[in-house]
Amino acid sequence: MRSEIQNAGTIVVKVGTSTLTYENGKLNLKRMEQIARILTDVKNSGKKVVLVTSGAIGVGMSKMGLKEKPKEVKAVQAVSAVGQCELMSIYDRMFSEYNTIVGQILMTKDVITNLERKENAINTFSALLENDILPVVNENDSVSVDEIKFGDNDTLSAIVAKLIDADALIILSDIDGLYDQDPRLCETAKIIPEVNEITEEIKSMACGAGSKRGTGGMITKLTAAEIATDEGIQVVIANGKDPHIIYRILEGKEIGTIFKGKKA
Ligand code: GLU
Repeated sequence: MRSEIQNAGTIVVKVGTSTLTYENGKLNLKRMEQIARILTDVKNSGKKVVLVTSGAIGVGMSKMGLKEKPKEVKAVQAVSAVGQCELMSIYDRMFSEYNTIVGQILMTKDVITNLERKENAINTFSALLENDILPVVNENDSVSVDEIKFGDNDTLSAIVAKLIDADALIILSDIDGLYDQDPRLCETAKIIPEVNEITEEIKSMACGAGSKRGTGGMITKLTAAEIATDEGIQVVIANGKDPHIIYRILEGKEIGTIFKGKKA
């Protein structure tokens, strides 16, 4: 199962807020720099790469000096408008250090439920990738309300992977992979290296929320894995604290948890 990922031609990498920011909410520039260099290098090796990034709300909160996420929808939308701008400006600068042009795509759920908009989105992704541009995707949080929300970027990354017909989806988070028990509560918890099928038993191993700054937890990651593997996409969930892990995952090393893509 691991060796198949070495042949992946189109890869989506999702990075969560907990990977991109410090506990205090400020951006972890070292990691962002590494992500820009590594993804450029992977792209240079001949693969198509898409980055799905979180962080708009976290970065916006930090920039506006907010300790807690606001409760009101419009206030969160405002925070994300500030944060997305900062986030993208930093990615743009960091990727351009390595001569990579990035293009921002902000998505809402209606982009995929409306066939015409979906087609347009697919065309934009393919035009960017054909032109050797690295798409950087986030949810369009500043206009998202419940009806048109994905709600978390794990799900969004799986939808993007499906949309562009990717071969692999790598979800980087602050946890090493899927454990058989909650590793925060149970010292003997063991990582599950490979999942052939996402059964009810596997789902029961996923425990709720992740960090305070991000949105998803293992449950949203499993939902993402289910969406993507149903389309034949291999999914790896791994710890993003050292982004070099991306190389090792693509070399087929036993890292994190790999979910086998189902073949039609
Ligand atoms: N779109 C959100 C943001 O950029 C993140 C959602 C998530 O963490 O899954 O802040």
